[in-house]
Amino acid sequence: VRTSPFLNPPPKATPDSLALLGLRRDHFIPITLQDDGAAVTNTRFGSFPHQALLDLPWGTQVRAINVNASRSKKSKKQGGGKKRKRADDDDGDGNLREDDAGGEDGEGEDGHELASSGFVHLLPPTPETWTISLPHRTQVVYTPDYSYVLQRLRVRPGDTIIEAGAGSGSFTHASARAVFSGYPSQQASAKELENVENGIAGGDALPKKKKRKFGKVYSFEFHEPRVQVLRDEVKEHGLEEIVTVTHRDVYEDGFCIDEEVDGQPQPRANAIFLDLPAPWLALKHLTRSPPTSSQIRSSANSPMPVTESDKPFRTPLSPTKPVHICTFSPCIEQVTRTVSMLRQLGWIEIEMVELLHKRIDVKRERVGLQEEGLRGGNPMPKSVDEALGRLREQELRTRGFYERQKAKAEGKEDDDADAGAEAMEKELVKVEDGTGDAEGIESLLSKQQRMESNQSKAQERKIWKEGKLVHRTESELKTHTSYLTFATLPREWTEEDEKRVARKWPVKK
Ligand code: SAM
Repeated sequence: VRTSPFLNPPPKATPDSLALLGLRRDHFIPITLQDDGAAVTNTRFGSFPHQALLDLPWGTQVRAINVNASRSKKSKKQGGGKKRKRADDDDGDGNLREDDAGGEDGEGEDGHELASSGFVHLLPPTPETWTISLPHRTQVVYTPDYSYVLQRLRVRPGDTIIEAGAGSGSFTHASARAVFSGYPSQQASAKELENVENGIAGGDALPKKKKRKFGKVYSFEFHEPRVQVLRDEVKEHGLEEIVTVTHRDVYEDGFCIDEEVDGQPQPRANAIFLDLPAPWLALKHLTRSPPTSSQIRSSANSPMPVTESDKPFRTPLSPTKPVHICTFSPCIEQVTRTVSMLRQLGWIEIEMVELLHKRIDVKRERVGLQEEGLRGGNPMPKSVDEALGRLREQELRTRGFYERQKAKAEGKEDDDADAGAEAMEKELVKVEDGTGDAEGIESLLSKQQRMESNQSKAQERKIWKEGKLVHRTESELKTHTSYLTFATLPREWTEEDEKRVARKWPVKK
């Protein structure tokens, strides 16, 4: 935990540490920084030698630097100019080798030309940046959902969470941080330690070190390769002390594990998150006492576990704290089955929430200028015919635009320019030897003037002329992730509790 870059990131990028290169707000590349002259990460925005990134504070904007020509040549030979799959992670290890140099998506023969102008941000790993950059093995839970879920589950440092299925580990990383307390604000500073060492201050001048408290995350997953990858990641990310990944089908075998902490069977969870195709099949294992006969009768779609007489009933839940649960299901049918089973098993405060998190795009558009009759805008059409006429005109312009683009792509545009220049030359020769006429040269000249004036207009670009500032949100379809069903299982009220209360607040007769 002490070395986990997710919980205790060093203030600067250090060798062997996990870092992220932020290309765009939704595109990060995870890399392990190496103190080795040959280690370079190539991105669509250029090449970044690791040695240039080391010792930089997190958040630094780093410009790509040109790498030597020999490497460029090598990359050309290896097909650097051809269209390839994502050049930023061809090996799937988040690290690019020198061989990958040459740019992405065929952006020219020499990707390093771009390298001189691009930049990235050097970022520390956090659950949020990891969620964006992690290698996907499954659908994942994204930050807007998991931040809300963890808050509704009331997860605090020291808590114990059960999570199933673990999938790609997105939720796992967020929960590991949520149960961890403590950035070392209570620790002595270097100056305070020095003062004590030099006898300037006594030991009691040091702030009392708070014991770092961290809870536990018990993750369950039945797909064995995913279990293995997640275990490796948990180890690499220094989260082993917090996260335990168990290979299990939780519908069949539930959530109890063969581990004891302070003589207590584990997990003793107080928060549960189920991201499973059929969460209602797992709920029967999340009780504090064996199911009653009426529960067994009413659970036709989720047979209750039979408690074998030689195996005492065990609960994975905390016996002393209320337990909060959230299930994450994309379809409403899954929600109704889950809610029904929660009710039968005594869960209360059942509530379903859908989070519609929308990204808002803000840009300038010419729409609206027309309605307001502002500069350059046409007034509103006065009839349907006029509107149709304008649409036809617009269509012709659009077609012309695409034809010009096509000609440009096919290299014909230069031919046209050459032809124009040749025509002008011919007209001039005719004027000089007395065979030409003024009209010919006039028309060519005015054509040229028009072109020049268009160019200068483009140069005098004024931002307000580009239209009104508008914003658009993503469509509803894109923002639906899943329905979040929440419920609470109150703590068990025992005879002992009743007696304790009676002793403390005796009823006056
Ligand atoms: N929450 C994960 C994340 O944020 O990365 C993604 C979970 S993924 C959508 C669902 C996972 O549940 C899959 O990896 C699948 O293998 C696992 N799963 C499905 N049925 C299961 C079962 N009965 N027991 C354990 N895991 C199961």
